[in-house]
Amino acid sequence: LDPETFARESRAVINFLAGYYRDVEKYPVQPEAMPGCLRTLLPDAPPENGEQMDVILEEVWRHIVPALTHWQSPKFFGYFQANASTAGFAGEMLSTGLNVVPFTRAASPAATELESVVMDWMGKLAGLPDCFLFSGGGGGVLHGSTCEAVVCTLAAARDRALSRLSHEGILRLVVYASDQSHSTFQKGARIVGVPRSNFRVIPTSAASSYGLTAASVRDAVEADVASGLVPLYLCATVGTTGLGAVDPVRDLGELAREHGIWLHVDAAYAGSALICPEFHEYIDGAELADSVSMNPHKWFLTNMDCCCLWVASPAALTSALSTNPEYLSNVTEESAAGAGVVDYKDWQIALSRPFRAIKLWVVLRRYGGAGMRAYIRRHVEMARWFERALEADERFEVIAPTRFSLVTFPIRPWHEGDPGDDAVDALNRKLLVAVNGSGRAFMTHFMVDGKFVIRMAVGGAMTRMRHVQDTWELVREKAKEVGALTND
Ligand code: PLP
Repeated sequence: LDPETFARESRAVINFLAGYYRDVEKYPVQPEAMPGCLRTLLPDAPPENGEQMDVILEEVWRHIVPALTHWQSPKFFGYFQANASTAGFAGEMLSTGLNVVPFTRAASPAATELESVVMDWMGKLAGLPDCFLFSGGGGGVLHGSTCEAVVCTLAAARDRALSRLSHEGILRLVVYASDQSHSTFQKGARIVGVPRSNFRVIPTSAASSYGLTAASVRDAVEADVASGLVPLYLCATVGTTGLGAVDPVRDLGELAREHGIWLHVDAAYAGSALICPEFHEYIDGAELADSVSMNPHKWFLTNMDCCCLWVASPAALTSALSTNPEYLSNVTEESAAGAGVVDYKDWQIALSRPFRAIKLWVVLRRYGGAGMRAYIRRHVEMARWFERALEADERFEVIAPTRFSLVTFPIRPWHEGDPGDDAVDALNRKLLVAVNGSGRAFMTHFMVDGKFVIRMAVGGAMTRMRHVQDTWELVREKAKEVGALTND
């Protein structure tokens, strides 16, 4: 690692990326890339001798960029965003450049302590109750993804429950989620040994805007208790993946407390909006939860990857996840005395971990709370504009209220007669394919009540109102082309 070469080649990469960001709007958001497209372009073995960075960047430009889906395009409205920003990139550079490995405090004191500070900062900004802050007896950790965070909380909940049951009790543990919860809960439950038949998917409906009701969870819990099972874990989502629906945290928290169930609040996407007071109502009752998570790498200007996980009882997490090989044991006086030392290896699955805290810290320092609130509100406003445009056009239907920045819609059955659900679904699929095929925008879909629904997730760092307005025009144009709109 020669510092001069490092400076020169890193500058070349930054210039390359600056050019990419300058022009990304002009590229088709989704490429036409056939499976195997790169294999035919690249040699089938690595070079024997190293090559120059400009040659490598030229190849990135010629072969890789054309086959990318451009997540940073201002016209990318698919899935949820993976925000990039100048501060997120600068923070990631610091993380990867310093390249320390804070698995124990001793392995990197500043990285560990910055993580604890940043987790308290984020918790305060998102309006979490004090019980999730280190200063309030809880604490937080940065994971790479919500999926990892969920597995860790499931393991903590399982071990807490098994300390009261015999080990065979694992066969009686039950996990509850809604039909809108992220699939990671099902996967996580399997990983920690909960029998597949003990995963309850509780239906939601339009009547509750696709949020859970405490009554429906209560029915499921009581039926399980009556048959000798042990309710273990309940997921409440603030901002579901498909529709942006919200589960009632307080009601579910009261039920969870009554039955000793671990309540996890998954705010992977919408957690970023919680920094605005107008969204705080959605986290009301969080003091009744055991854990909360959200992903700054989605909608908080923090480059991949970064997931915040807070727990009310760090001991519950660490007693499930800690291991103490001799070579990692702390020999310094303060850790030997156990003086509140956090060893983050005991808060996650892996041992090694990057210095993510510095990335989130740079984002928070560079944009501040006010800057981030303005950023979130701008997207919410753009999404609401799109929702109003749909509502004003009788040929479209808005499926669930746009609480954050996700708009969900199908084309309605059109003109005289009922074409039937299959025909309407086929038309909506055609519309999505036509929109994405144009290269002028990219959206994804979801199924709700058996119906195909198009999702438009607003939240790109470079997305402006004109992109949203152009996309509305594009949707209308393509709808006409696929034959949906007859009265325009
Ligand atoms: N939970 C929700 C509500 C999500 O929307 C997502 C991803 O979109 C996840 C969990 C999974 O997040 P990750 O990819 O960080 O594991």
